[in-house]
Amino acid sequence: MSVIRVALPLPLRQHFDYLLSAGQQVQIGSRLRVPFGKRELIGIAWQLNPADHYPIAQLKSVISVIDDQPVLSDTLRQLLTFAAEYYHHPLGEVLTAALPALLREGKSLTDYQQFAWRLTAAGAEASAANFKRSARQLELWQALQDGAVPAIELLTNHPRTALKQLADKGLIEQQLMPLSPFSQRGLKQPALQLTADQALAVTAINQAAGRFQTLLLEGVTGSGKTEVYLQAIAPLLDAGQQVLLIVPEIGLTPQTLSRFQSRFQAPVLCWHSNLTDTERLNCWQQTQAGSAAIVVGTRSALFLPFARLGLIIIDEEHDQSLKQQDGFRYHARDLAIKRAAIEHCPVLLGSATPSLESLYNCQQQRFIHLSLHNRAGGQAMPRYQLVDLKQQVLQFGLASQTLQYIRQQLQQGMQVMLFLNRRGFAPALSCQECGWLTECHRCSAFTTYHKQSRQLVCHHCGAIKAVPRQCKQCGSARLAPVGQGTEQLEENLQQLFPDVAITRLDRDTTRRKGALASALDSINQSGPRLILGTQMLAKGHHFPFVTLVVIVDVDGALYSSDFRAPEQLGQLLTQVAGRAGRGSNPGTVLLQTHYPEHALLQDIIQNGYASFARSALLERQHTRLPPYQHLALFRAEALQSNLCQQWLTELAALAKTLPGIELLGPLSSPMEKRAGKYRWQLQLYSSQRPQLHQALQTLLSALQSWQLSRQLKWQLDVDPIDL
Ligand code: ADP
Ligand code: ZN
Ligand code: ZN
Repeated sequence: MSVIRVALPLPLRQHFDYLLSAGQQVQIGSRLRVPFGKRELIGIAWQLNPADHYPIAQLKSVISVIDDQPVLSDTLRQLLTFAAEYYHHPLGEVLTAALPALLREGKSLTDYQQFAWRLTAAGAEASAANFKRSARQLELWQALQDGAVPAIELLTNHPRTALKQLADKGLIEQQLMPLSPFSQRGLKQPALQLTADQALAVTAINQAAGRFQTLLLEGVTGSGKTEVYLQAIAPLLDAGQQVLLIVPEIGLTPQTLSRFQSRFQAPVLCWHSNLTDTERLNCWQQTQAGSAAIVVGTRSALFLPFARLGLIIIDEEHDQSLKQQDGFRYHARDLAIKRAAIEHCPVLLGSATPSLESLYNCQQQRFIHLSLHNRAGGQAMPRYQLVDLKQQVLQFGLASQTLQYIRQQLQQGMQVMLFLNRRGFAPALSCQECGWLTECHRCSAFTTYHKQSRQLVCHHCGAIKAVPRQCKQCGSARLAPVGQGTEQLEENLQQLFPDVAITRLDRDTTRRKGALASALDSINQSGPRLILGTQMLAKGHHFPFVTLVVIVDVDGALYSSDFRAPEQLGQLLTQVAGRAGRGSNPGTVLLQTHYPEHALLQDIIQNGYASFARSALLERQHTRLPPYQHLALFRAEALQSNLCQQWLTELAALAKTLPGIELLGPLSSPMEKRAGKYRWQLQLYSSQRPQLHQALQTLLSALQSWQLSRQLKWQLDVDPIDL
């Protein structure tokens, strides 16, 4: 009788063994249905006859074997095992992140055949004149002129409604599509003539083909990193290899996806959280079958079952959203590097503002460093200018010098971008009589006033309340907004520049589907325009007509307790500034501040990010912070603050006895109360990663049995990026 060790989707750090009956054939990596308590669970066959299995007499039997082929290859199981160990996270939850929902639910793969759409006879006879009233239907009809196209590929750039409309009219129909490796070769659109820097980078990437190597492409904003990706990919596709491109947030950069689709004949799929479960499974199957050539996806695309992976690219590798911020807190860049090592393929990290970790790895010669020093079209880098706000009369938060600059650019028909990292109308409402401020009762934070929706919204826990008529403290009706958010700035700018078109980009204005795309379209039209928004503006957009960028308020970020704050500010400023001067006119960046002499600001604007980052790295070395030390963080959360303190104090006492570990804390988290719970943390530092992992192992096995561990919520974050 055989014993099979099964990975189950449970938040438990332990093994589960089951018995296989004589007739049950099972391949490692395939799904099984097993009894668990009174339930049935779907798990993955992980190991046959493990030496340390539980006594046979205690084991229950496998109910059924779902797949005759593994859903998780050896490669992926290696990656997931590594991830579970590195992040000290239960394997079952790691699996949950890696498998599409339909597979986790035990759906049979053969039930999800892939379909393609093709023109019917009537559709082939139709002409463009049939679609006069619907551009979308016309585009879809045109896309099918050369033959059938897989449904999932069509859906990446045609709306579902258009599909349905054409099908209802009998112009298109579905056909079954057997999955096979993609065979399309070559380009749809000619490649650009590379600059010398770009050509060197492409050569270096291609030289790394077929073996594991990490390369960092550090290229100033607008230097043509995407063109490097495109040309590095081309020979791989011609050799039938697949490419994974991970981007921080697809929704924010629709341009990137379309650049890949319009360059290559081979199919480009996307992977993100807005896909339906069926679409996700389809993408998964096409990746596994090798029929997807390129997948552009958000961080979990990292777990897709590529058949012949030739290259992984991480675009904007510094971006914080590559790190999952809850549950299984993995960093997509770091796991991508591990995956590339397992797959024996190169991994390319790209950014105008690389993380200090990656720069450090270049210094250690673990990564190959590639640079693009200049903008691709020869445009000058934007020029920074500090605007001292001290002793100035401001109009709507803008200095007279700033207003003058804005006016000038608009008069010349150019676009001006204003960056303000606070959405809503005002960060709080205040009583004019007694100074009371609207606060969230569940968080240590003020509630943001949203004028249009007439709400007070907590941006930390999402709590929404109606705007009060009276002060809760003294009853006065004189409540007024304090400070300025993007909603208010828009209103004020409209008043100052009544004839100028304004586009506001923040989470409130882009919530509606298609809103961001149409905003980006209008920005790509020439003519005077004010563009204002939050950090959404920093995300890699190419705005050809922006000549002036105004950073309305940098001061908030200058004095923060988080050791990563300077790095993040440097990245944000450089990325926002990088939107300026991408067309034929040079760009200027105005930074409004009360602290023009601040060393950090001076360093960034005088020396640029590349130099700033290297001095910031030296500083990390002197202060013995990551990447010079490794960091892990325990967080505790409870209704009573003292529970957290007590638990972390016990943890600290034990950690103190472990070799090679330095502690910081217990400390209250920067936002001490959130969504009604108090939050504390304990930071563990070590210069040796194995010692840190050993310590975490010891702490985790000890705390499982503590009474207190069950009275609060705790989590472990390895390599945290927000403290
Ligand atoms: P990045 O990703 O580095 O910010 P992009 O790849 O978006 O830069 O390139 C910026 C602009 O320069 C784009 O409009 C792109 O088409 C153009 N570009 C890139 N490489 C070249 C080149 N070799 N010759 C001419 N234009 C180029
Ligand atoms: Zn009052
Ligand atoms: Zn709140």
